[in-house]
Amino acid sequence: MTKAGSNEKDGLYEFIVKLADGTECRVFYNREPEWQLTNISRLQKTPCPVCRKDFICKCMDQFSGDIASQIEAGQWFDKALAQ
Ligand SMILES: [Zn+2]
Repeated sequence: MTKAGSNEKDGLYEFIVKLADGTECRVFYNREPEWQLTNISRLQKTPCPVCRKDFICKCMDQFSGDIASQIEAGQWFDKALAQ
């Protein structure tokens, strides 16, 4: 997971997350009052692992909870922000 952008004043962060299967996603977080995943979208580099489309789809939305808990469990915020 790497930081792609932030607006520290508003507590908004954008990260690129690489999943175990090679899929890359762009995730948006709001850290006020606590880290909360607000949006997720798949980067268009690889076909969707769920529906195999290579254009935009909503499949990643259903995994946002899983991805958010893995990010939290791995303390990826600290690692990404330390870069
Ligand atoms: Zn899909």
